[in-house]
Amino acid sequence: RRRKIVAGNWKMNKTVPEALALVRELRGPVSSVGDVVEVVLAPPFVALQPLHVALEGAPFQLAGQNCHWEASGAFTGEVSAPMLAELGCAYVIVGHSERRQLFGETDETVNKKARAVRDAKMTPIICVGETLAERESNRTLEVVERQVRGALAGFEAKEVAGFVLAYEPVWAIGTGRNATSAQAQEVHAAIRGLVGRLYDGETAGRVRIQYGGSVKPDNAAELLGQPDVDGALVGGASLKAGDFAAIVKAA
Ligand code: 13P
Repeated sequence: RRRKIVAGNWKMNKTVPEALALVRELRGPVSSVGDVVEVVLAPPFVALQPLHVALEGAPFQLAGQNCHWEASGAFTGEVSAPMLAELGCAYVIVGHSERRQLFGETDETVNKKARAVRDAKMTPIICVGETLAERESNRTLEVVERQVRGALAGFEAKEVAGFVLAYEPVWAIGTGRNATSAQAQEVHAAIRGLVGRLYDGETAGRVRIQYGGSVKPDNAAELLGQPDVDGALVGGASLKAGDFAAIVKAA
């Protein structure tokens, strides 16, 4: 059975003192869920090092929210995967819809970033999801399939089996309008089916697929109860200790 994974994507929120205060509040409630759920925090880059120190021995993994695909070089303002690995990150989110929409990321750059994350011995959390216009024109599965194929190009089955994919419908992000559990399950099952066709049944059975988009304490159990929903990628609700802890417990 796949271990559930709940990640908090803090986006561009929390100063270092605020980040430290939030993990102090989370530590107790999250420790009590033990090994049942893997809990991941993706703070802004500048908070990674202080949290790495503060979280020593705590049941949290750290994630970067993005990285460049080169290991080093003349790329002003960018951060590389090896730099994140060295700060104790186990995961890096790649291809978040905000990166795709606001910062010009494409299926090809997402693929290069996922490769860099893997080369640095971390695990990519690869985000995919359709816009409202794409859903309304019945193109959801076509769009998500193109994104998954693009992101996974060139990877082998044994790599993909350890990956995390995140289905985040763009219309559900930050809107308070989550996908229904049936809508999420339909897309998650389609993604798992695609991984099975691209690789094999074992890889499809092992890859974890998170749902993201307006996950809150009151909808988490229903969404996470679906057979192909292996966790949540939480934005707004991950900024409040009580809400995030409740979502972790619902998993
Ligand atoms: P919200 O939970 O704020 O809708 O954000 C979801 C998200 O984008 C997580 O990556």
